[in-house]
Amino acid sequence: MVFLDIWAVLRNLEDMISIEKALDIIRQNIPASQLETVSLLDSLGRVIGEDMFSDIDMPSFDKSAMDGYALRSEDIKLPPVELEVIEIVPAGKVATKELKPGKAIKIMTGAPIPLGADAVIIKEDTQYISSTQTVRCFKRVERAANICFKAEDVKKGEMVISRDTKITPQHIALLSAVGKDKVRVYKYPTITIASSGDELVEITQKPIGAQVRNSNTYSIQAQLNNVGFKVTSLSIVKDEMDSLTKKISQGLRADIFILTGGVSVGDYDIVEEVLKKLGTEILIDQVAIKPGKPFVFGKNKHCLVFGLPGNPVSVFVSTEVFIKEVLSILCNDPGLKNPIIKAILTEPIERTSNRQQYLFARCYLEAETNLWKVEPIKGHGSADIASLSRSNVFIIVPADSPPLPSNSPVSVMVLE
Ligand code: AMP
Ligand code: MG
Repeated sequence: MVFLDIWAVLRNLEDMISIEKALDIIRQNIPASQLETVSLLDSLGRVIGEDMFSDIDMPSFDKSAMDGYALRSEDIKLPPVELEVIEIVPAGKVATKELKPGKAIKIMTGAPIPLGADAVIIKEDTQYISSTQTVRCFKRVERAANICFKAEDVKKGEMVISRDTKITPQHIALLSAVGKDKVRVYKYPTITIASSGDELVEITQKPIGAQVRNSNTYSIQAQLNNVGFKVTSLSIVKDEMDSLTKKISQGLRADIFILTGGVSVGDYDIVEEVLKKLGTEILIDQVAIKPGKPFVFGKNKHCLVFGLPGNPVSVFVSTEVFIKEVLSILCNDPGLKNPIIKAILTEPIERTSNRQQYLFARCYLEAETNLWKVEPIKGHGSADIASLSRSNVFIIVPADSPPLPSNSPVSVMVLE
C-alpha cells in the first residue's frame, strides 16, 4: 500500500510541469494570428494590423485658428490702427476678395485665410465700428499669428498610425479625419465555455442537498468580457459520456473551448477521456500551479481546448494566467494580460508549496511612504469565492519558495 502511494507521488511529480513550461507548450500551439475588418468604432481597444496613411493634407488649406480679422501684419505694426472691413468669411466658405493694404476681412475659426492676408488678430483685441465699417486693432500681431498652415499636422500620404498600435479614442479621432471608416485589426477568436458536474445547477435555482450553483461560466465570461471578448456559454453538462460528448463536440467548433470541472482524478472526472475520444491531442494535463493543478490543454484540429479544474478560484486563476496569455498572443496585445507589480508584504506568508501559488490579497498605495503594500487575505482555498471577491491582487509565490517574512518584496498580479 505504502509502496503504491510512493509511486503515485513520483508519477505526480513527473507529470506536473512548471507554469513557464506549460505556457511554452501553449504558445507553440497557438495558430498564426489573422486580421479582420471592423468598422472604425469597433476598432476601439483593438490592435491594428496594418499601417494607416492619410489621404489628405491636414489641414488641407491654410486656415484661421481663431475668430477675428485676417489682415497684413505689416499694417498694424503701430497700434491702435483702423482697417476697413471688406468681407466676412465663415468656416466652409472662401473669401471672394483679395486682401489689399489697409483692409481687413472678418474671419471665423476654421475659415480659409484670404489671399493677401498673413495673420489673424483675435476678435478680443479689436473693436468693430459699424458706422465706418472699420475695425480698430489694439495690438500688433506677428506674421503667421493664429494661422494653421496647410499640411502642418499631416502630409498627404504620410503614415498616421503604424501597425500593432492599440486603438484609443485619440486614434479614432485621427482615423476618422483621414477617412478610415473600416479598419483591419487582429482577429478575435471565437470562445465557447461550458461547465461539467452532476452537482451543478443554474444560478436561478436554489441548490438543495449536495447541489452547487454554477459560477464558473459566469466568472470566465466576466473576466474575458472585461478585456473586450465575447464568449458563448454552453452552460452546464452532466459528468456522463453521452452528454459530455455532445457538449464537447459543440464546444470544439470554436477557436477556443474552455470546459471546467471533471479533469481531476475522481471517478467521474472523464473529460480528458471524452476529449481524447473526440480526437483531441492532449499536450498538458497537470501544471505546478496552486490553485489549478489539474489543467488540461490540447488541440483538436483548429480548436485550442482547455480543461480547467472545477473549483471556482482555480478557474479564475487559470483564466488569468493561461487563457489571457493565449488571447494576448492571438490578438497581438500584451495589454490583455494583468500587470504584475512589486509590493511589500504586510504580514508573513508561512505556507510553502512545490507549486507556484496565487494567494488572495489586497494591495494599496501607502500614503506616507508612497509604496505599494500588500496584505494577504486568509481564505479557505480554491472554492472560496468570498475571499476572491475581496481580493484586488493575487500574491505570486514561486514554487519551492521559503516562508516569506513581513516586509518581503513580492510580485502581485493586479486584478483591477
Ligand atoms: P471537479 O474539478 O469537477 O472535481 O470540481 C471541483 C469542485 O468544484 C467541486 O466541489 C465542484 O462542485 C466545484 N465546481 C465544479 N464546477 C463548478 C462550477 N461550474 N461552478 C462552481 N463550482 C463548481
Ligand atoms: Mg466534477
